[in-house]
Amino acid sequence: MSKSSAQQRDVLVIGGGIHGLSTAFHLAQRGVTVTVLEADYCGRHASGVNAGGVRTLGRHDAEIPLALSSRALWHQLKHTLGDDGGFVPSGQLKLAENQAELDECRARVQHLQALGFTHETLIDDRQVFEIIPTVARHVVGGIWVEADGYAVPYKAVTAFRLAAERLGVRVLEGTPAQRIEQRGSRWQVNTERGLFSAEHLVITAGAWASELAAQIGEAVPAHPEGLMLMVTHRVAPFCGPVLGATGRSLSFKQFANGTVVIGGKLIGSLDFAARHGEVDMARLGTSARTVTDLFPHLKHLGVNRVWAGVEAFTADDLPVIGASRKASNLSYSFGFCGSGFQMGPGTGKRLAQQILGEHSDISLDAFDIGRFTVVTGASAAFPQPAISIPNPQEFPCWTSPESKPTNA
Ligand SMILES: Cc1cc2nc3c(=O)[nH]c(=O)nc-3n(C[C@H](O)[C@H](O)[C@H](O)COP(=O)(O)OP(=O)(O)OC[C@H]3O[C@@H](n4cnc5c(N)ncnc54)[C@H](O)[C@@H]3O)c2cc1C
Repeated sequence: MSKSSAQQRDVLVIGGGIHGLSTAFHLAQRGVTVTVLEADYCGRHASGVNAGGVRTLGRHDAEIPLALSSRALWHQLKHTLGDDGGFVPSGQLKLAENQAELDECRARVQHLQALGFTHETLIDDRQVFEIIPTVARHVVGGIWVEADGYAVPYKAVTAFRLAAERLGVRVLEGTPAQRIEQRGSRWQVNTERGLFSAEHLVITAGAWASELAAQIGEAVPAHPEGLMLMVTHRVAPFCGPVLGATGRSLSFKQFANGTVVIGGKLIGSLDFAARHGEVDMARLGTSARTVTDLFPHLKHLGVNRVWAGVEAFTADDLPVIGASRKASNLSYSFGFCGSGFQMGPGTGKRLAQQILGEHSDISLDAFDIGRFTVVTGASAAFPQPAISIPNPQEFPCWTSPESKPTNA
């Protein structure tokens, strides 16, 4: 029996985070031969150490269709992978602590409704207290998304990896891709373990992806940051949904074991060359204060662990997903700006469809790498976007080129 055209294809994926493994899984499901090269171990970086938020709430307009489709896959993960990745459909709630914040929430919900999105609902103080009876009484309302939730990052990454391996995907850890090169119709990737070659190359190397793209002269304005989290000691159950705040940085959830995970895109410091993030205790202290303002009964709760993971940020706060504009048979998926765990299942599925030339009901156009000017040579590390973007001050993720790590 002759092989289908998908079965005749082979793909190399660089990066064993949730995006690389999800893409590998979805390609392998279609019969493609896939090898994943991972520099450290799968889930070592952002995908395995994040806060686990499965959040469509508060997404950039351009991300909403993909985020909603990804959320649907989180709900089906047990069926798809044989493991739910620790997914809990707890709901997510963004709190308004005063009238001005509630007005902001109202405007946001109206804006989404005008675009045809109804997944975010404005709720008043009474509804907030019904959902979380223990929250401080100064809260005046918020935005509620019932079908959002959270998952357990390392469990979810491992679930994708094992499901991919069951479909024949080869995962090679401790194998950093060094040089990438297209020779004729094949991509070649140099590693310490030798040369790998495939018809199609997928770069899902997180904070390191833009360095690989720059090798072929396709640089993007992306930079790494160290994002921090802290986990408290166990405490009796008091909060079901994931919480965020409107006027201050917060992402907060209580796991079933009683521990509370506190984050919210808190920037720490970074040793990029050592592939390592560092925590800034003063900034974590500010975040802890936000939590005790909202839940005064936690004032004496101890912090058990703190850490920082390395994440890729782009200049316009949107990821790069899709085909290269510079080379054939090359695809990217990186630059998720602190919110890419939720996007993993859906993005991997859509990228696999694009690679195989299949129709997809979700467009990836907003994430096209072509929105940035392609610059080669000395200025390639921080090129300017070709599209008009608002003042960088408006992007909370952006730091000025001067403050970026020189080794980015
Ligand atoms: C502290 C923290 C909290 C977060 N909280 C949330 C949250 O609650 N919800 C949410 O949706 N998102 C969250 N995020 C963001 C989310 O974790 C990331 O957007 C997402 O995991 C990115 O996945 P990735 O696969 O692109 O990158 P990564 O997970 O970084 O994977 C990339 C992989 O590529 C490998 N690699 C790099 N270079 C090479 C090379 N040359 N050769 C081979 N392999 C290479 C790396 O070792 C790494 O394993 C958080 C991130 C952090 C750090």
